[in-house]
Amino acid sequence: MAFEIKRIGIIGAGQMGNGIAHVCALAGYDVVLNDISPDRIRAGLATINGNMVRQVAKGLYDEDEKQRALSRISGADSYTGLDDADLVIEAAVEKEEVKRRIFSEVCPHLKPEAILATNTSSISITRLASTTDRPERFIGIHFMNPVPLMQLVELVRGIATEDETFDSSKEFVTRIGKTYAVSEDFPAFMVNRILLPMINEAIYTLYEGVGSVDAIDTAMRLGANHPMGPLQLADFIGLDTCLSIMQVLHEGLADSKYRPCPLLVKYVEAGWLGRKTQRGFYDYR
Ligand code: NAD
Repeated sequence: MAFEIKRIGIIGAGQMGNGIAHVCALAGYDVVLNDISPDRIRAGLATINGNMVRQVAKGLYDEDEKQRALSRISGADSYTGLDDADLVIEAAVEKEEVKRRIFSEVCPHLKPEAILATNTSSISITRLASTTDRPERFIGIHFMNPVPLMQLVELVRGIATEDETFDSSKEFVTRIGKTYAVSEDFPAFMVNRILLPMINEAIYTLYEGVGSVDAIDTAMRLGANHPMGPLQLADFIGLDTCLSIMQVLHEGLADSKYRPCPLLVKYVEAGWLGRKTQRGFYDYR
């Protein structure tokens, strides 16, 4: 039996959070977009508007539908804005301590029956659930980037996730027009367990001087038919997120094959996080 979801809260208005807000509003849900920074909320809303303008220009829907979707989204820089949400999706940075702090602060504001989900790319759902007041109503709903374009969502149950939470999440994913794949709760789930070691290996390939940035990306685009080279993809994901995922794989699976490349560590230490900071393996300035 699924629980009826009408209003959705999203924590984190970054590239994933604003993408999730975008697809939820278009599917007819009321959406509250929360972030610690009012500037990030404003930037998130501006990104949604810009992405919808492009979709209208492509003929995917009309201006009226766009306006209706935008009117369903409001911003909130405090968790009180989430008190009547039926589903809250956390999409803040990929740091376990940050997510734990968010859950301890947000839970007292939520309705007891609200479902709490995380968009984590790699962290244990069972462990995150244990830091909340509702492990039975906690689940991983892992979107892909960019959310408005990518079809897949991974659904990950923690050990305590009850059937109603799982069924409601499946119904939600279907209603926003996405396809789900169910993953067991292991480090980085399925997509990133396979994708991130490939990206990390591409960074080692650069680090060891086997090829240049252009050569590596061209090789994988034209030689393996990938739509985007692995270094460009790393820049799009965010190098901080890539490093966090590799660290979760390395620690969680205790295998040296997941050791984050020192060059990735160095870029993150430099604040070169990819497209979102204008500099990564490519220069976007
Ligand atoms: P991002 O850096 O673009 O955005 C993170 C946002 O979280 C920022 O706006 C920041 O201000 C906000 N934030 C930080 N602390 C907060 C708090 N306490 N309360 C509210 N907001 C807070 O990151 P992103 O790429 O959108 O990633 C967000 C999550 O989605 C991460 O868990 C990441 O692993 C996951 N994810 C990322 C991708 C990707 O390709 N980037 C894909 C799937 C999932």
